[in-house]
Amino acid sequence: MKEQLADILDQVLRRNPGEREFHQAVREVFESLEPVLRKNPQYVDAAVLERLCEPERQIIFRVPWVDDEGRVRINRGFRVEYNSALGPFKGGLRFHPSVYLGIVKFLGFEQVFKNSLTGMPIGGGKGGSDFDPRGRSQGEVMRFCQSFMTELYRHLGEHTDVPAGDIGVGGREIGYLFGQYKRITNRWEAGVLTGKGLSWGGSLVRTEATGYGTVLFAERMLGTRGQSFDGRRVVVSGAGNVAQYAIQKAQQLGGHVVGCSDSTGYVLDERGIDLPLLQQVREAERLPVSVYAERRGATFVPGRRVWEVGAEVALPCATQNELDEDDAAALVRSGVLAVSEGANMPTTPAAVALLTEAGVLFAPGKAANAGGVATSALEMQQNASRDAWTFDYTEQRLAGIMHGIHDRCLATADEYGQPGSYVAGANIAGFTKVADAMLALGVV
Ligand code: GLU
Repeated sequence: MKEQLADILDQVLRRNPGEREFHQAVREVFESLEPVLRKNPQYVDAAVLERLCEPERQIIFRVPWVDDEGRVRINRGFRVEYNSALGPFKGGLRFHPSVYLGIVKFLGFEQVFKNSLTGMPIGGGKGGSDFDPRGRSQGEVMRFCQSFMTELYRHLGEHTDVPAGDIGVGGREIGYLFGQYKRITNRWEAGVLTGKGLSWGGSLVRTEATGYGTVLFAERMLGTRGQSFDGRRVVVSGAGNVAQYAIQKAQQLGGHVVGCSDSTGYVLDERGIDLPLLQQVREAERLPVSVYAERRGATFVPGRRVWEVGAEVALPCATQNELDEDDAAALVRSGVLAVSEGANMPTTPAAVALLTEAGVLFAPGKAANAGGVATSALEMQQNASRDAWTFDYTEQRLAGIMHGIHDRCLATADEYGQPGSYVAGANIAGFTKVADAMLALGVV
């Protein structure tokens, strides 16, 4: 079985040259699957793994737009419709200069397992563009979004493919994308996008959901050792949507959050992060975290990673591969108890190995950050029934889903002889549900 897995992996790597992040994501899942395939030879016979590694559809398109100086600009747009065995393709759009096919495929692949873990009827997909929204005016962002949707709309639909936000795509961008979709199709089709504004079909708690979910997962994980956030020193990376609400929920649970970051460096604020000020700087004014440090009288350390300050709970909420072996070693030296991934694949494989060997509780993103997409599914549910739920009820549903994922990961890890491994539990539980659906639906 080991050799068979290695052969399939080898094929995947050769068929998708140069896509480093995609290779990393596939390899990481494959490492958990040997016992599953041994127990379920029907997956091997039906080539489920080979089919799972090949997206159902990959769309790459030109996005032309005109900047404020009247110059024509060209970006590249992507949508990888990865797997629809469990429901319509579902997953965010990322606008960031680093976006290329390998990033979109890694995110889409992860999304398939994550969405499966939520227990909701959603398949997996991802998209985005190498467009850099930083420094762009409101008008430029709007024109870009309109051009992007002018191609993408034909591939979307509430029963087909339902995008949402990711890095660089928030409420403002979802608004422009929805407006253009509505105009082109002449349909007020709420369920075609999630992360919508509250006054036009959005769901309460969707904004908070990814950060909240990551912390709720970590709290339950700490609970297995009789620990909690209360009084713990917490460090968060990032300062965007996921980081902000991870900070808020950690503080609500009694955590003392002393650090956050962005691509320019990190903030150390021993008095505890002042979230309203951070949101004023980041959301309202769209400025770097150094401005927060300046106004708050906190320390700003340029060009370095926040992990060096040490923590009992670490929440990587920025981007892929932002916590490496050296960072993990620094966290272990500082006595870290738990690491819960708010971002997608933020911890490198070597760092995961180091943390696990040191006995640190480790929650992989596809489990710990599933709260965002799970609440997107709740938004779709509200849209389908033309209803709007209260904050408390929606948050209760989110908490129930996160606890369910946590418990399923642990039970699955036990069942497959790797007790305590959330990585194995998430990969195996996510995989088997999709694999069973694929078997049932035949070779399609
Ligand atoms: N981009 C988010 C993720 O990584 C959310 C996707 C969604 O809500 O569809 O899961």
